[in-house]
Formats: sequence, C-alpha cells, structure tokens
Amino acid sequence: MTPQTPQPNPEAGAAVKAADRAHVFHSWSAQELIDPLAVAGAEGSYFWDYDGRRYLDFTSGLVYTNVGYQHPKVVAAIQEQAARMTTFAPAFAVEARSEAARLIAERTPGDLDKIFFTNGGADANEHAVRMARLHTGRPKVLSAYRSYHGGTQQAINLTGDPRRWASDTASQGVVHFWAPFLYRSRFYAETEEQECARALEHLETTIAFEGPSTIAAILLETIPGTAGIMVPPAGYLAGVRELCDKYGIVLILDEVMAGFGRTGKWFAADLYDVVPDLMTFAKGVNSGYVPLGGVAISGAIAETFGKRAYPGGLTYSGHPLACAAAVATINAMEEEGIVENAARLGETVLGPGLRELAERHPSVGDVRGVGMFWAVELVRDRETREPLVPYNAAGEANAPMAAFAAAAKEGGLWPFVNMNRTHVVPPCTVSEAELKEGLAVLDAALSVADQHV
Ligand code: PLP
Repeated sequence: MTPQTPQPNPEAGAAVKAADRAHVFHSWSAQELIDPLAVAGAEGSYFWDYDGRRYLDFTSGLVYTNVGYQHPKVVAAIQEQAARMTTFAPAFAVEARSEAARLIAERTPGDLDKIFFTNGGADANEHAVRMARLHTGRPKVLSAYRSYHGGTQQAINLTGDPRRWASDTASQGVVHFWAPFLYRSRFYAETEEQECARALEHLETTIAFEGPSTIAAILLETIPGTAGIMVPPAGYLAGVRELCDKYGIVLILDEVMAGFGRTGKWFAADLYDVVPDLMTFAKGVNSGYVPLGGVAISGAIAETFGKRAYPGGLTYSGHPLACAAAVATINAMEEEGIVENAARLGETVLGPGLRELAERHPSVGDVRGVGMFWAVELVRDRETREPLVPYNAAGEANAPMAAFAAAAKEGGLWPFVNMNRTHVVPPCTVSEAELKEGLAVLDAALSVADQHV
C-alpha cells in the first residue's frame, strides 16, 4: 500500500494534545510524566503526526493491527455493517456474529468449536478461568511468572509480572510458576532440552504441592509476549498438555497477542501441534479496529454448559461492528496470504536481519522470535547478561533505552520498548522493503545503545 502524504497541521495537533493532557487519564502511567504523541492519521505500516512526520510502526499499535492500519476491506465492512445494523443484543442470532464465530471456529485447532465473545483479552481470560473452575469444580489456577493476561482484577492477578503487585489481593486462587526461558534460566539449564525438562519437572512438582484436586486450570500464553517474546522450547507445551491430561486440569492457552497470524500461523498453538481445552483471543482477530475478544471452547467444556446455564456475559458480547470487522479481517488474511507473508518474511528477512544486527552490536544480548513476533534484548555486558537499565518513564535523557527509542524515532521508526528490550512486531502485512527500512533504522539506534555497553 502506498502511504498517504501526511498534511501538516500543527495547530490542530496542539489542540488535540491540549485536550488530551487536560482530560485523558492514560493507562499504566504517571499522568504528569508522559508526553503522548498526537497522531493525525495512519495507513498500512505507517502513521503520522500533525507536523507531517511519518513513522514506520514496528509496534502494530499494542501488537494488534495485524492487517495494518485502514485496511480498505475491513473499513468497508465496518461501514456496511453500521449502515445495515449497527448493534444488536447478544441473545439474538446476528449474521456478522454467527459468521465471525464460524470463521474463527474453523481456524482454531482441535474441537474448539464454540466461541464466547468478549470485548478484549482480559475479559476473555476472566471468562476462560471461570469456565474452567465451573467445569472442574476446583478453585486454583496456575499461571506463569513473566506473563501478561490483562488489566482487570482477575486477569492482572493471573499476570506474572510486577504490574500486578499494586492490585494483588493475595492472587485470588492464583499460583505462579516458572515457564522455560533459557536465556535467563531459572533452572541452571544449558540447553533447550534441559530447560524444557526442568521446567516440566518444576511444573509437576508445583501441581503436586498445590494438590491436583485443587487445580482447575493451567493458563499460559502460548508464546509469552509482553514479558519478552520467549519462544518455548520444542516439547514444552506438549509436556504441559500431558500434565493437564494426567491430573484432569484444563489447559487454557492465551493467544491474545500470539494469535491470528502473528507467528506466521493462525495460532501459535499450531507451531507446536497442541490443542488446549480453552483458547483466548482478541487483538488480531479484527486487528483491533473495533474492540473484540473471545474464548474458543472445546466440546467437553461446552457440554458442561449444555443444560446448565453459563453464569456470565457482557452487554456488547459479539458486537456486530466488531464481528463484521473480524469477518473482513479473517477473509482478507486468507485472500491476501497475510499469515503466509508473516511466516515467510519472518524467516527470510526479519529474523536473519535481526540476527545480523546482533552480530555487529555489542548491546544486543539475545534475539528471539518467529513470524512478525520478535524481541531484541539489550544488555550492558554480553557475558553477564546484565540488562541495559530499564526504560525510564520519566524519560531521563541519559537512560540508554530512552536514548535508543529516541534515535529510532528520529530515524522515522516507532519502536516497542519494554524494559531492556525492543519488541519487533510490525503488522503481518508489512513488505520486505518496509522491513529493510526498519532494520536500517534499528541498526543506527543500536549504535546509540552500544555507547552504554
Ligand atoms: N493476554 C495477552 C497475552 C495480552 O498480550 C494482552 C494484552 O496485551 C491481554 C491478554 C489483555 O488484552 P486486553 O488489553 O485486550 O484486555
């Protein structure tokens, strides 16, 4: 797609910014320490500000615009749905909702054939956990440290990163465990095989000490995203599946970030041939054009609620506008080979390009990922793996990650900076030329990070 030419309009930008600073209370932020960019427009892999500065978006928003910005087929589908039937309550059968459920169910692995729609990822996880507890009659859920499952009360408690501390009410029946991550191994492992075996042993010990008959579910991001895009070793998820079967525990895979083409497959679970009992999704299902998430439910769990009511729901569940956007997104992905594009360019351009940067830049400690789902981990010292100091929200001029981010933006690339990592997560529609353009900017920005090694 040829990007539109941004038309500068600094006065309009200043007004947008002033109203934002006066009245918008931003997520995860100290309100007085942030300086949000006023965005004027977006198309494909780019967005631009009111000064006419264009950025190549290596963040896909919050890793959700899998078909890029303003995909014409998705925009048209939303417009058509709005003209025909903007909204209708969830208790009715509505064409856009039925069609979205059918298209999703046809792509999810195994017998995950029933779709419960939510408004996003956090509520999808909340409902998946509730379904698992009601299905098993057990109270606890095991989830991993270094995970993110959403910002609502149960979902933030399920999350295994420090953001949950502020709202952690003794984790409400949640027990955390360590999932595999060889680069910073908890298990003193030297190989992926060792890491995998020890992580599975640790999980089984955790199950034993918690008591299998008290555990409803194990919830895992198939590939943990926010916490660092940690691609699990071959065999780990199959091993978790076996443990779940052995102890009658429901396996919930969170594919909110990894799903819908991000990894070069429809779902990351397809990379490992693992079928969960429940699978949550959001983001890429309709590229976030209208909020939508959901839980894909196996036959056995759906049966639990065959004659017994499922005690849960949301006013906007399966909103027709969101579902019409999902139908158009999935169809566009299929028609335009977008999932294949993510797989092919991940393997031939982005992965090799990032690894080549790692060879030349001493600040790069690790590069890992698949498809359009990559993390570059920046370190002070490759030997000790000491992280470059975390990104400082106060934006201290000499904080290395802030300097890295500023250099990238200066070069026309919007990076996803999280702690000592930059996640490289362009839209799945990105072109080879755009990836090369972005890699060149990252090259220059990493030279800035190198100065702190
Ligand atoms: N699960 C995962 C893996 C996520 O990455 C996210 C959001 O980043 C969520 C759940 C929460 O989704 P939402 O912000 O739509 O509630």
